[in-house]
Amino acid sequence: MIIREKQEEPSFDVVLPPSKHGFGAVLSATKASASLPQAGDEFDFYRSFPGFQEFCESQGDKLLHFMSQIMQVHGCRSHLRDRNKLTGLEERFDLIVDSNDVILERVGILLDEADGVNRSQQPVMPAGFQPPKIVVSSWNRKGSGSGSRSEMFRLLHAKNVARPQLKFKEKVDNSNTPFIPKIFIKPNAVKPLPSYFTNKQIRKERPEDLDVPAALADLIHQQRTQEHVEDMFAHPYQYELDHLLLPESLLSKPEVQMYRPMDESNFSFIDTLEDLVALNEKLCKLSEFAVDLEHHSYRSFLGITSLMQISTREEDFIIDTLELRSELYILNEAFTDPAIVKVFHGADSDIEWLQRDFGLYVVRLFDTHQASRALNLARHSLDHLLTHFCNVGSDKRYQLADWRIRPLPDEMVQYARTDTHYLLYIYDCVRAQLLDFNHGQPGLLQSVWNKSKDISLKKYMKPIYTEESYLEVQRKQKRSFNTQQLTAFRLLFAWRDKLARQEDESTGYVLPTHMMIKISEELPKEPQGIIACCNPVPPLVRQQVNALHLLVQQAREMPLLKPEVTLFGPHDTSRVSESDHHPFSHNMDVDVQKTSVLMAEAKITLFESICMQCRGLIILKDEDSLPVAQMKARRIIESFENPFRMYLPSSDVHVNKNAKFDPSSKIFEISKRWKLQSIEQQQKELEAKKKAKEEAKQLAKKVAGNWVYLESAKGGAKKRERVPSEVGESTPKPSKKLMTPAEKPQKTEPPPEESFKPFDYSQSDLKVFAGNKSKDNTQFDPNRQAHDFKKKKFGRGQKSNLGAGGRSMSYMAGKSDRGFRHNWPKR
Ligand code: AMP
Ligand code: MN
Ligand code: ZN
Repeated sequence: MIIREKQEEPSFDVVLPPSKHGFGAVLSATKASASLPQAGDEFDFYRSFPGFQEFCESQGDKLLHFMSQIMQVHGCRSHLRDRNKLTGLEERFDLIVDSNDVILERVGILLDEADGVNRSQQPVMPAGFQPPKIVVSSWNRKGSGSGSRSEMFRLLHAKNVARPQLKFKEKVDNSNTPFIPKIFIKPNAVKPLPSYFTNKQIRKERPEDLDVPAALADLIHQQRTQEHVEDMFAHPYQYELDHLLLPESLLSKPEVQMYRPMDESNFSFIDTLEDLVALNEKLCKLSEFAVDLEHHSYRSFLGITSLMQISTREEDFIIDTLELRSELYILNEAFTDPAIVKVFHGADSDIEWLQRDFGLYVVRLFDTHQASRALNLARHSLDHLLTHFCNVGSDKRYQLADWRIRPLPDEMVQYARTDTHYLLYIYDCVRAQLLDFNHGQPGLLQSVWNKSKDISLKKYMKPIYTEESYLEVQRKQKRSFNTQQLTAFRLLFAWRDKLARQEDESTGYVLPTHMMIKISEELPKEPQGIIACCNPVPPLVRQQVNALHLLVQQAREMPLLKPEVTLFGPHDTSRVSESDHHPFSHNMDVDVQKTSVLMAEAKITLFESICMQCRGLIILKDEDSLPVAQMKARRIIESFENPFRMYLPSSDVHVNKNAKFDPSSKIFEISKRWKLQSIEQQQKELEAKKKAKEEAKQLAKKVAGNWVYLESAKGGAKKRERVPSEVGESTPKPSKKLMTPAEKPQKTEPPPEESFKPFDYSQSDLKVFAGNKSKDNTQFDPNRQAHDFKKKKFGRGQKSNLGAGGRSMSYMAGKSDRGFRHNWPKR
């Protein structure tokens, strides 16, 4: 169960039978807190009274104390009250969010157990295995009628639902590459769809299909797609949305049209193409309709839109989006028609899900959530709007139901219908009020149209794994990890991400974060110890416990250095007592202080680095005071390019601020960077390209070695094999997308200047996830990297010409992206 935090909607929708009483208490507490004077409002006035201030402080302390206690019970970090250890509200909020996650995750797991599901007894299905079609869900057993309402809650987490992914005509793409829009025809276009999307051939071409070695295939593929890069990542309706005019009629006072009672309106469940086409035709004749989606995220890596609800003034429709996934794009005709208003409530996620799963876009969105905000209503949930305008109670408990269940139980159909049935009426009401509020002036209403348009401009971004991703998660835990623990966490994180993509499961299903933390902290010596860290044991953990054990073992072998050891010095694994820890004194957790932590900070902190104990940044001497050798070393390290930079939101100054989170700009930037290569380089490139086209195979060996240094190659002389598409498309291509850090040094190597030498692939480590290899070169260790790098670099008698001016042109000279510093020590 993955709980998404919703701003206005506290996630206590999941009410468990034993906590029924608790629900009432939580509800009244929430109400009470909502009626407190707001910050920036009356609060400031009240606060000027000392009595009020005192009361707030004592109550606040009490509350923090309670929360700390609850968090402690659940083994979460709980320094909410300790002002020394936390700097601000944000950090506290993080702590609470994390604790909520941990607690709710456990609730989900315990629910499973209570539901009689003993995961350990379930056979672990091989990937792609089709479980029996019978839905043996608790829904069927206890479902409608007989069971009391409260019993239903246990069913939110249905068991043994057939994986809808297996039916998908187009396999899910979990690869570690940016999302490319699925659109291939563009109804209501003002600006035509770029050729990239209309030309099936370009789109279907994959580097693996080229009958040349991997490195060359990558290059050719990149060259071919380079000219499309801007189109590939743009919002297909950007132009239309940018030029969308707001007609007078949408700003004038509406005639409020009452909704029909739900039991008096027609309902259709749509799961055939014919019906979908008919629906589309119907919709195209209307001037507005309401839309909502239901989504499932636990048993899928990216998530699956499982249902689409559409309501007109007359009828309700529920579309089985699992069944019609590949056909839903036809709705673009209505969805992108600016003459038809699409009313959503809180469309942010829906807009992304529509793009991701169906290639659907919305032109002329009205978001009632935005209207509620503009009207400054007490709460902005749909629930509240329904009560406020329609006097209808909605049972939001179903929000987190398993929407993959088929056939859809009646209760869920009812719930899903409610989500859109009243929305057009609410649309009328809020528009009227927005105008009234503003004395008939359209400004406020206009702002809601504009905010809605901004939401429809949102682009779906796929989660991208980088070498640094684990740090973001780890940092949130605010735990002090020693180097071994941190290594374990990193390896487990990589394992989890890889497996989740491969098996198309959520990372929370593969291995919940709190279990990952526990394993990293304990570093169990035996596989059994890993099992003991997980209760209940996730199926994939049980299945792969030996691989996991190897990862933990690797982490335990992590060298631990004495502080005097220099960056390029020999590894020294002797222990350092806590008193040897660097002199910056921090408020460390007592438990950490107690442990004699093994430290590897050593002189790696020559550059900016994370202190493993306090996790603060240690800034050392500035450049002028560094010896020449160290400065050189720093430059070498700075010249390392992060192979994932193109996928990362950039913090780089070169990037336009607006384009910050736009992968297209990253790729564009990279393609521009290529152009900056020395002329010589470009000529070589051209030559090689020409030759390659003529006699690709023949030249492959020779050229491939050379290109490896350039942007394209990801190492690996072997031609990648085309995997059978069943598994293939949902399987990441590690050799291409997920490079071991051990490969980075190759990339930084300047292109050979005088004579060409084929690259020695034997030195690259193609294992992405160290799981089963010798201890030697499988895992990433900044110290060892630097070490190896030095060996490679200077071992070949190439004098370091990597001073500021001598840096290879193939790499951005500047610092790399987010997270870069965490792996590669630098200034
Ligand atoms: P809604 O727009 O309220 O119908 O929600 C649409 C989908 O968002 C649901 O099917 C859930 O998958 C997801 N969702 C809504 N609220 C939450 C929440 N509080 N936590 C996690 N997922 C949620
Ligand atoms: Mn919704
Ligand atoms: Zn909904």
